Amino acid sequence: GSSNIGFIGLGNMGGHMANNLMKQGHKLNVYDVSSPACDALKTKGANVCSSPQDVAKNADFVITMLPNNDIVSKTYETIVKDGVSSKTIFIDSSTIDPNVAKSIQKLVTSKGARFVDAPVSGGVPGAEAATLTFMVGGTSAEYEAVKSTLECMGKRITHCGDYGMGQAAKLCNNMLLGISMIGVCETMNLAIRLGLDAKMFMDIVNSSTGRCWSSEVYNPVPGLVPTAPANKDYAGGFSTELITKDLGLASGVATASNTPIPLGSMAHQIYRTLKSRGLGNKDFSVVYDFLKNEKNN
Ligand code: NAD
Repeated sequence: GSSNIGFIGLGNMGGHMANNLMKQGHKLNVYDVSSPACDALKTKGANVCSSPQDVAKNADFVITMLPNNDIVSKTYETIVKDGVSSKTIFIDSSTIDPNVAKSIQKLVTSKGARFVDAPVSGGVPGAEAATLTFMVGGTSAEYEAVKSTLECMGKRITHCGDYGMGQAAKLCNNMLLGISMIGVCETMNLAIRLGLDAKMFMDIVNSSTGRCWSSEVYNPVPGLVPTAPANKDYAGGFSTELITKDLGLASGVATASNTPIPLGSMAHQIYRTLKSRGLGNKDFSVVYDFLKNEKNN
């Protein structure tokens, strides 16, 4: 049936996600600090609210899709100030620290409502096409309660475990992605410098043991995969800024749990360097361009 859904954070991801919920017949109350972001959703039929508290009023579900730990925490502190309804389930789909997700869960339940973490993978194209992967942290009952709502925005909804485990899965996946992209970049660069044909070598990798998403779908060498950001001067796609943020979160939880992540840490530093050289807005596969331009004499 149709639910009353609140949505906070209507950016690159959230705007599409909120729109997909409306396409499935849900009623949306939305909020964002940016008025252009609100206007875009209003045009599509959403009711724009003037505060996060108003979004939460009478909601069956409230979804938050915000930039970082700090903004997500502050938003929940604001929401609970006015009290929350016991029927509301809050779903945070932002990528944040699992420990921050756990504290927000405690805060929300102390006020009588429920909270799950449900970060996503699939990027802006996945948000637009409603094909996101959701990684849910919460009880089995909460997972069952949010599943059909999340299915309006994604096609694979996985219960990862208790509170924070959705974020844990998300950070681990993105750490591997950050590492594998650098691996593909330096390997392609070496192969080309050794005189191998780029397309021929990519095809060998993609039918051999080196194959991965970064080599196959998102190959960083221009001219090989038509849909990859490498062909648009690394514009769009998954920004260096965001992978740097995710690797920073992964480093934090790895340090806190005394877990060695030698390549994850190194990958974090490499993306930080690119960011400090002004490449934060470029797709993270720009590492290839960076390495290619390193002198080889
Ligand atoms: P974005 O910056 O495009 O959108 C964030 C939105 O939040 C903006 O519209 C901004 O105005 C709004 N906002 C900021 N502070 C606010 C506040 N205090 N109250 C209300 N609204 C506020 O970011 P995005 O790309 O949509 O990503 C959102 C989250 O999803 C991040 O945690 C990101 O790491 C994660 N994520 C992004 C992608 C991606 O490919 N873009 C993929 C998976 C996960």
